[in-house]
Amino acid sequence: MSAPVFNPATGAQQAEVALGSIADVDAVVASAVTAFESWRSSSLSTRAGIMFKFRELMDASRGELAELVSSEHGKVPSDALGEIARGMENVEFACGIPALLKGEYSEQVAGGVDVYSLRQPLGVVAGITPFNFPAMVPMWMFANAIMCGNCFILKPSEKDPSAALFMAKLLSEAGLPPGVFNVLQGDKVAVDRLLEHPQVKALSFVGSTPIARYVYETGSAQGKRVQALGGAKNHMLVLADADINAAADAAVSAAYGSAGERCMAISVVVAVGAVADELIPALTERIAKIVVGPGTDPKAEMGPLITRQHCDKVTSYLDGAEKAGATILVDGRDVSLPGDGYFLGASLIDNVTPGMQLYQDEIFGPVLALMRVDTYEEGLALINSNPYGNGTAIFTRDGGVARRFQFEVEAGMVGINVPIPVPVAAYSFGGWKSSLFGDLHMYGPDGVKFYTRNKVVTSRWPEPATSSVNLGFPVHK
Ligand code: NAD
Repeated sequence: MSAPVFNPATGAQQAEVALGSIADVDAVVASAVTAFESWRSSSLSTRAGIMFKFRELMDASRGELAELVSSEHGKVPSDALGEIARGMENVEFACGIPALLKGEYSEQVAGGVDVYSLRQPLGVVAGITPFNFPAMVPMWMFANAIMCGNCFILKPSEKDPSAALFMAKLLSEAGLPPGVFNVLQGDKVAVDRLLEHPQVKALSFVGSTPIARYVYETGSAQGKRVQALGGAKNHMLVLADADINAAADAAVSAAYGSAGERCMAISVVVAVGAVADELIPALTERIAKIVVGPGTDPKAEMGPLITRQHCDKVTSYLDGAEKAGATILVDGRDVSLPGDGYFLGASLIDNVTPGMQLYQDEIFGPVLALMRVDTYEEGLALINSNPYGNGTAIFTRDGGVARRFQFEVEAGMVGINVPIPVPVAAYSFGGWKSSLFGDLHMYGPDGVKFYTRNKVVTSRWPEPATSSVNLGFPVHK
């Protein structure tokens, strides 16, 4: 079985990806199980040396990988370079594995008795990743997983499968032994086999909420460790005292970057009081300047959507908006480019209310909704009643209100005058509510915990008696 891979900027099929069968999954798992025996015994400095080398190779080939990502995903190369840079932060973090795997030690808990803890790898672990960050999201997972001593199977999205292979080649060139990092192309068949395979000990998933819930429930019912990150609906609360230009710059880049196909994209601006009327001209002026085009055009700032079907689905929210009572201030359907690419311009929709479909669903496209509230409390209640809780942001000059927001808002990642608060690699990434199933967040310290098991050793050694032969160290009798 295979699936076509399209160039979203032209609509033309440019490749075909094989879809792994149950037998293919079993073969990959078997090879990873074999590799685990020696990989878990490799020294931390050997592992770190390979990761440093991989970082060097990635650094040297950023441009080539960015073009590859752009050709299958559609995002413009500057966006693709951004995801590579953010992904490589996780590689840099994982290079510090000798420090990250340190355990704890308590001396003399009883006479001659010490207690200490070790973190050990799980075995074979798998990562299932979405189309929208084909380079970064795999790096969120495999950098820590491998450095902790596990063997990793990556099941990338079948829509843009090549970045995974590109990174596999560089890992191999960096000296990673065969079977430690594996790419398994495929769809639901492959995912289902990974979920039930007894030798797969843990699964990391990033994708839409319904599949995240399915992966979490199915994998954990099989006794596996699972972290499953889902979809989002991220709100940006703009207070009356906010710097309007800064808020408009932030909203436009956070809503329309990567054509809105980011789980941390801002999809709703919640304007308090009269601030909406000040924001609208600032937003429309900026939206008019966004250059929509293919990644091959150096002037393009926003590329196409991932597939024709997805483009049609996003368009359908615009088709239904006015009937539902909203006002389309900027209509992305007005942007048309020659050819069969899946392009849609940026849209701004005013007077959106909570009952509207375009508010209730994750649209995952270049559509920004504007909602008006009278008070901070009303805005907070709106955000907290949304089923998603990935990221959120507040724009204000009032430190007291910002601090109150950080305390009261129900979301996993909060920005204060920062629209896309993706944590740096020394922290971990994850939402709340329907944006995350599981406990530990992705990458950073949580990633190290997720990919290791804790073992506690209690040891007793009798006091050494002095030896008559001086060996240079004490001898037990
Ligand atoms: P998706 O859920 O369709 O696919 C994700 C992965 O699951 C892919 O590898 C796909 O092959 C696999 N898959 C799809 N259907 C499946 C099924 N029925 N059974 C088993 N496996 C299946 O997501 P997508 O469209 O590739 O990515 C976009 C979604 O990902 C958005 O909802 C976005 O918010 C979310 N996302 C979330 C985060 C986060 O950190 N929370 C980050 C990036 C993307």
